[in-house]
Amino acid sequence: MNKIDLSNLTIEKAHADLVSLKYTAVELTQAYLDEIKKKNKDINAYLEVYDDALVAAKLADEKIKAGKATLLTGIPCAIKDNILFKGKIASASSKILEKYHATYNATVISKLAKEGVVFLGRTNMDEFAMGGSTENSAFGVTKNPHDLGRVAGGSSGGSAASVAMNGALFSLGSDTGGSIRQPESFCGVVGLKPTYGAVSRYGVMAMGSSLDQIGPIGKTVRDCEIVFSTISGKDIKDSTTIDENTYTRQRIGKSKPIIGVPKHFLTGDGINKSVLEAFNKSLESFKQKGYEIKEIKLPNISYALMAYYIIMPAEVSSNMARFDGVKYGMHVSGKDGIDDYFETRRAGLGREVIRRILLGTYVLSSGYYDAYYNRANAVRKMITDDFLKAFDSSRGGVDIIATPTAPSPAFKIGEKTNDPVTMYLEDIFTVTANLTGLPAISIPCGATAVDGKDLPIGLQLTARHGDEATLFEVGKEFLGEN
Ligand code: GLN
Repeated sequence: MNKIDLSNLTIEKAHADLVSLKYTAVELTQAYLDEIKKKNKDINAYLEVYDDALVAAKLADEKIKAGKATLLTGIPCAIKDNILFKGKIASASSKILEKYHATYNATVISKLAKEGVVFLGRTNMDEFAMGGSTENSAFGVTKNPHDLGRVAGGSSGGSAASVAMNGALFSLGSDTGGSIRQPESFCGVVGLKPTYGAVSRYGVMAMGSSLDQIGPIGKTVRDCEIVFSTISGKDIKDSTTIDENTYTRQRIGKSKPIIGVPKHFLTGDGINKSVLEAFNKSLESFKQKGYEIKEIKLPNISYALMAYYIIMPAEVSSNMARFDGVKYGMHVSGKDGIDDYFETRRAGLGREVIRRILLGTYVLSSGYYDAYYNRANAVRKMITDDFLKAFDSSRGGVDIIATPTAPSPAFKIGEKTNDPVTMYLEDIFTVTANLTGLPAISIPCGATAVDGKDLPIGLQLTARHGDEATLFEVGKEFLGEN
């Protein structure tokens, strides 16, 4: 067999190769396993490589030979460690779940398994998805494949790095405030945070239930589109999932989508110069491709980060209550039942998780509930209204809103660990899509040379609810995939 060129592989190309028997799914899987073996000890993208990946590949080969292959049959993928895969450990990179085995499959896993996808392993993340650098993992940081001295981003840092290092053809991440998009931006790959409710959350460990979405990560927009179309759809096991037809398509029959830019939000010294340059170049390239660029106003957007860092911990504090030393994972005995709870959580949970439980409990406590939580929810509504107005086609609205994905390229390991607030500022452009439920994609839009290394930069595109189609269309044209 010729060596498979993993760096230029896409799902459609691999599918064509597999069905024309250029190589088998076993050989393809082996090629990825070899690459992981070579690189993972340095990068730490995977926490575990499944020992039965080749068995799954063999089954995929049988399906292919029987002429029953779909686009994803035999395609190797990685999954974030907070998504349940029956019988396998799912630890959310936390000590408290280090030995916890999932007892059922997440809906996304069942859907992919049905297609004959090969699961290579589970990837590193910030503990319970809380963080933006994977430094909050109990099992070591994930390093950026473009510069091992820098973070891969987070919380889905392992999923992003696995694709960037040619250790998986695609991966799954979860996104509560940017965790799919920011690491993709840092690692130079594509990541989609779908419309809230488009993808079932059944079987993903809840962080902020009104914000969480599972989404695909790949090298191309088309790959993300293929995976999204497979994992999305109404699911009776998640009552917040929506039908494909829930939202009317405002763009039907129109020519090129109009791109809106909230310029007022892109000033100030919080944004790295190289990021702004890459962003402005991207706008130029859109113009050359015939897109109309319009300046828009999102009057309340500067409050998004504050609202997120009240609503998210509130939901975190409630979702984390289930880790009581009885139901799941680790148990540490104390003086009595209540003390067991304290001891288990003290031993099992990391600092950032505890910080957020404290913050969340505080903003939900009587007396502060109205002052913080309710106000943050009111702000959330105002921000959503701003976006809906900007997208309103009956008032000359735009079809896409463009911003950078993150205010900086990948930062150095340890650079922000002692200052949670600067770390939270990383989420400034991404949290709005979660607060509003809108779909957003991060695509690579350039790189900047720092210390002799090329660090990728990401462009974020946000669309109307349910309009992933426009994100894919514009994203593919931007990257020249058509
Ligand atoms: N970085 C953000 C946070 O720390 C986003 C996390 C996420 O999307 N899971 O909350």
